[in-house]
Amino acid sequence: MTMADFSFDNSYARDLAGMYVAQRPAAVAAPRLLRLNTALAEELGLDPVALAPVAAEVFSGAHLPEGAEPIAQAYAGHQFGGFSTQLGDGRALLLGEVIDSHGARRDIALKGSGRTPFSRGGDGLAAVGPVLREYLIGEAMAALGVPTTRALAAVATGGQVWRDSGALPGAVLTRVASSHLRVGTFQFFAARGQADMVQRLADYAMARHDPELRGAERPYLAFFDAVVARQARLIAQWMGLGFIHGVMNTDNMTISGETIDYGPCAFMEAYAPGTVFSSIDRQGRYAYGNQPAILGWNLARLAETLLPLFDADEKTAVDLANARLEGIAALYQAEWLAVMRGKLGLAGEDAGDAALAEGFLAALTGTDFTRGFGALADAVRDPGRLHGLFGDRAALERWLPQWQARLAPDAPARIRAANPIYIPRNQRVEEALSAAEAGDMAPFERLLAVITDPYTERPGLEAYALPAPEAFADTFRTF
Ligand code: AMP
Ligand code: MG
Ligand code: MG
Repeated sequence: MTMADFSFDNSYARDLAGMYVAQRPAAVAAPRLLRLNTALAEELGLDPVALAPVAAEVFSGAHLPEGAEPIAQAYAGHQFGGFSTQLGDGRALLLGEVIDSHGARRDIALKGSGRTPFSRGGDGLAAVGPVLREYLIGEAMAALGVPTTRALAAVATGGQVWRDSGALPGAVLTRVASSHLRVGTFQFFAARGQADMVQRLADYAMARHDPELRGAERPYLAFFDAVVARQARLIAQWMGLGFIHGVMNTDNMTISGETIDYGPCAFMEAYAPGTVFSSIDRQGRYAYGNQPAILGWNLARLAETLLPLFDADEKTAVDLANARLEGIAALYQAEWLAVMRGKLGLAGEDAGDAALAEGFLAALTGTDFTRGFGALADAVRDPGRLHGLFGDRAALERWLPQWQARLAPDAPARIRAANPIYIPRNQRVEEALSAAEAGDMAPFERLLAVITDPYTERPGLEAYALPAPEAFADTFRTF
């Protein structure tokens, strides 16, 4: 078989012995390519033409390309607030790293490629539905300008996966990430009292993501600040899109600032801060409106692992960490305000902007989040355009003059640039995944084409811009 040339350069495997286990992918029954992301392949420096004929074998793990060194990474994590000392890649394998066409190092990993020493009770497998959900939502997020892992390929294995609902068609997702370092990776070694390993990991993470911080007076504190900045910005972007991750465990929070592990995630339709789509999140820990608080909680767990590196004196280290943690809420608020100013089309900055944004959200309650914001573009000239959308007309009428007083001269263009027309609508996603499970990829392809060009309104796509009917929304669960 002529092989596509990946030119792997596997720094994690080379530099971080003791932080992973070498593991081969499981055999697959009859791999069949569902989708190859040719644009991403090109960005990675791969040749899509050479890749196409071997993609099913390579991206199912059936054939290892030259230079691949598949490993399962160790990590721990707080899941719904409770600490597990060992999680790790239970169904994922890092194949290797490539340097992309921009010179950036990217991980190429398989998800659903069989059991590993970290699988615990799990089967190590993934099903077509969740694999394609991760593909769709990740590509939508990338198109929306949100830092995210990407899908390079989805392959049906030809095998079956057993879940509560019965037998499902199996699949493997190939995921590209700027790294798979997680808050939980640091926790794994800190929990074992392996301070030397935490430091090696931090040095590796810094070399990979923040090389400019090496010369800082307190490099590990500067590194922590960099992670905080990336994550604060990321969560602000999620909030601006109505995105609900659904399982913000510390093992699902990256050091790179990319969104990772699309599981029970979904985009909110009717605005309500308490919205949760995962039926296992009974307390609403990861509800839409709670995501900024969880940001701070998770970063506090990261700070705990780095504490000895902040300063040799414990009290000084704790004081430094506490000052940082107390500042996260304000950092997040600044990022959120920047997002909201764009969405509302405001000019410059004003002390009253937070209240203005909150006022709009209050009036938006129960209205479709994406359409409610999107309608503001036309409402600059004709506020009557908002009337049909908003349940609470009185609240809207009180809010309008305050907004009009703050509008930028080019407000409609700003609003259009900050508010997508097309997001992955829950009903459309479910339809695409059901069809794919039944062997028809056409609805998936159509939906993918719509949501990867989210800001350009196109004729004939009205149905993709609409929320689901109430009967669907009331019972919709992602997990
Ligand atoms: P997640 O909920 O996907 O973030 O995964 C949490 C942990 O469970 C990680 O250690 C995963 O590798 C592991 N895991 C999830 N699903 C499976 C599975 N089907 N088989 C083995 N491990 C799994
Ligand atoms: Mg950097
Ligand atoms: Mg995970």
